[in-house]
Amino acid sequence: MPKRKHPPRADNAPCPCGSGLHRERCCGPFLDGTSLPPTAEALMRSRYTAFVEGRTDYLLDTWLPRTRPPLLELEPNQQWLGLSIRATSAGGVGDDRGEVEFVARSRIAGRGIRLHERSRFQRVDGRWYYVDGDFPG
Ligand SMILES: [Zn+2]
Repeated sequence: MPKRKHPPRADNAPCPCGSGLHRERCCGPFLDGTSLPPTAEALMRSRYTAFVEGRTDYLLDTWLPRTRPPLLELEPNQQWLGLSIRATSAGGVGDDRGEVEFVARSRIAGRGIRLHERSRFQRVDGRWYYVDGDFPG
């Protein structure tokens, strides 16, 4: 079975995070390193996009060093189907911590996977990082 290639990244393509915006007006600048996500939710969305695009470098860069795994291997056959943000708590432009609860759907070899996670984020020196998460319900 051939390895799935990363999807093409046209600038006017819809953002994989499902915001309804073009990638270049949403997660694109964060993944390209030209700007920083202003909120915990924006970081959360850009990390979902990084999963879709196979960007382990971005996933590790936006992981708090204290909780970051030494390396990250993505499932090459995972097909991401969509992200839905269920709730946010703090994580705004004036906060240093925040939580985002979301559901991310994907499929591996025809098997549907539903990830329901409440993620914690922390801002250090002006940058938001993913800390860890738990699984409500
Ligand atoms: Zn996006």
